[in-house]
Amino acid sequence: MKGAGRSWGRYPRTRENVIPLIDRHRDLPEIEGLGLPLGNARSYGDSCLNDGGTLFSTRTLDRFIAFDPLTGVLTCEAGVLLSEILDLAVPQGWFLPVTPGTRFVTVGGAIANDVHGKNHHRAGTFGHHVIAFELLRTSGTRLHCSPEKNSEWFRATVGGLGLTGIVVWATIQLRRIRSPWMSAESHKFGNLGEFFTLSKDSDQAYEYTVAWIDCVARGASLGRGLFSRANHAPACPDTRPYPSQRSLAMPLTPPLSLVNRLSLKVFNTLYYHRQRRQVSHATMHYQPFFYPLDSITHWNRMYGPKGFLQYQCVIPPEAAEDAIRELIETISGSGLGSFLAVLKQFGERPSPGMLSFARPGTTLALDFPNQGTTTFTLLDRLDAITASAHGAVYPAKDAHMSAAHFHCYFPGLDSFRAFVDPGLSSSLWRRVAG
Ligand SMILES: Cc1cc2nc3c(=O)[nH]c(=O)nc-3n(C[C@H](O)[C@H](O)[C@H](O)COP(=O)(O)OP(=O)(O)OC[C@H]3O[C@@H](n4cnc5c(N)ncnc54)[C@H](O)[C@@H]3O)c2cc1C
Repeated sequence: MKGAGRSWGRYPRTRENVIPLIDRHRDLPEIEGLGLPLGNARSYGDSCLNDGGTLFSTRTLDRFIAFDPLTGVLTCEAGVLLSEILDLAVPQGWFLPVTPGTRFVTVGGAIANDVHGKNHHRAGTFGHHVIAFELLRTSGTRLHCSPEKNSEWFRATVGGLGLTGIVVWATIQLRRIRSPWMSAESHKFGNLGEFFTLSKDSDQAYEYTVAWIDCVARGASLGRGLFSRANHAPACPDTRPYPSQRSLAMPLTPPLSLVNRLSLKVFNTLYYHRQRRQVSHATMHYQPFFYPLDSITHWNRMYGPKGFLQYQCVIPPEAAEDAIRELIETISGSGLGSFLAVLKQFGERPSPGMLSFARPGTTLALDFPNQGTTTFTLLDRLDAITASAHGAVYPAKDAHMSAAHFHCYFPGLDSFRAFVDPGLSSSLWRRVAG
C-alpha cells in the first residue's frame, strides 16, 4: 500500500510503502530498500517516517497474550494501544506504570521512544517497567530481551527509535490502583521561580506533577502558569462508568493555522485567569487528568495544512532555571508559541536506554506552527541554548535538529550504532546520524 506519511505534526510530508504485519510468528516480508516499524504515528516529527522506504505497520499486532490480575504482569503484542491496556486493566485495579499525554500510542512505540509521563520523578520511564520483549531483525533472527538476557540489545531497543528491529511482543509490569479516580490540585503561580519552588515542594508527596505555562507572558510574569499535582484516589468515590471521552473534533484542516500571535495572547490570558482561586482541588477521572487532548479528535489539524513542530528539551538541574528562562524569553519575544506549553521536573533515575531522552532536569515542551524559515530560525536559537546548557532535545517530537546537535545530546550514539539493523532506517535517522 503506497501512502503519504503523516506523523502527528503533519510535517514533513513523506511517501512510503506501508505493509501491515499480521502474524507475530511470521518473518518480515521481503522489501526493496529500507524498512521501519510504525506504531500509531503519534510521534510529532520524522522519527516514525521513512521517506522513499517501507513502514511495517504494527497496529495489526493487537492481541493480548497473557494477563495475571494478581501480579499485574501483562504480555501483549507490540501494536496494542495503551488505551486498550487501560480498558482491560483499570476495571481489575491496575494502571499503566508510566503514560504519555495521549493513550493512543502502541506498546512498541512507547518502548522505542522510552516515553515518560507526569510521574517521571517517581517512576522513571516506560522502559523501567518492561520485563521482556521479543525483537525481530530483518535477517529473521529473533532475540528474547530483558534487563538480564541480551541486556545490551534491551538497552539499545528501549529508546532505540525503531532502528534495532521490530518489537513483536512485550511483557510489562502494571501498577496497582484502588479506583479510576484522581485526587488533583491546581496551583496558580506567578512566575518561573514559583514553578521551581512548587515542583520541589510537590515531588515527594505527589506521584504526578506537571505545569502549563503561559509562553506569551513577559517581564515579572514570565513563566507564569498553573501547576497540577495529583495522586490516585485512595478509594472509589464514584462508581458510575465514565462516559466516552471523545466529544469534540476538528472536522477538517483550516486553510491557515488557527494559532497566531493574537489567538495565542487571548487564549493564554483567558486560560491563566480561568482559575480564580490560588488553589483548586478536584476529584477527577483519570482520562481528563492524563489525556485532556485526547478528547478533541484531530486537534493537530488546527495548525493548518503546513502542520507544526514541537520542541521538547530537557535542561540539567544546575543550568535549568537560567536556561529555561532564556528559552521562554526567546519564545515569547518571537511571537511564535502554543496554547500548550508544558514544564515538568524529571527525577534522578537514569533511563534504561542508550538513546533515552529523559534525564535529570527540567523539561519544556511546546508546539510551533510551521512558518518555514521563521520557525526553523527560532528552533535553531532554542537548540543553541539547549546545547550550551548541556541539555537534549526529544527525537519523538523533532523534525529539525541537526546531526551536530544530535551527537551532542546523545553521547550513547556511538555504542548504539552497533545495534542498528542494516535493513532499517528512518527519515530522522538519515538526518541526524550523519
Ligand atoms: C498528544 C500527545 C501527547 C504526547 N505526550 C507525550 C508525553 O507526555 N511523553 C512522551 O514521552 N511522549 C509523548 N508523546 C509522544 C508519543 O508518546 C511517542 O511519540 C510515542 O512513541 C508514539 O507511539 P506510536 O505507537 O504512535 O509510535 P510511532 O509514532 O508510530 O513510532 C514511534 C517510534 O517507535 C518505533 N516503533 C513503533 N512500533 C515499534 C515496534 N513494534 N518495534 C520497534 N519500534 C517501533 C517507530 O519506528 C518510531 O521510531 C505525545 C504524543 C502526542 C500526540
